[in-house]
Amino acid sequence: MPRVCSVCSHEDRAAIDKALVADASFRTIAKLYSIGAQSVRRHRLDHLPASIAKAEAVSRGVEAIDLLAELKELREKAMSLLLQAELSGDIRTALQGIREARACLELLAEVQGELDRRPTLNVLAVSPQWLQVRSVVMTALTPYPEARREVAAGLMALEAGS
Ligand SMILES: [Zn+2]
Repeated sequence: MPRVCSVCSHEDRAAIDKALVADASFRTIAKLYSIGAQSVRRHRLDHLPASIAKAEAVSRGVEAIDLLAELKELREKAMSLLLQAELSGDIRTALQGIREARACLELLAEVQGELDRRPTLNVLAVSPQWLQVRSVVMTALTPYPEARREVAAGLMALEAGS
């Protein structure tokens, strides 16, 4: 018998999806909604991108469109953190921006992959937003060659789909 996802069938699913998009931890969400952290994790990996993509594709479902808007807002926030870091040379801010941009772009890339239905080996590498973020990150890290090298390696791995 196939197992029903306890998040998909949850009455607060919309709120849970929203929390996931906002990058709340699996544990926090699990506790808040009395579900298993593993279920939340599985739902995030297996169901969330498809569900956002589906709603976007049919242009219906206010909730999922909200989610997309929120994702885009998060991306803006991450971008502005990065720009701020670039101006101030503040590495902590830069790293925070990278983290947010990365989580958010990964999810956007997954959604895009669902929308495309094509093998998407290199969604990140060809996404203009991603290229923009990458270039801002690299510029921001210029005064920190060591961190820059590490971040560059991380970004390459990310683009390669690992
Ligand atoms: Zn699910």
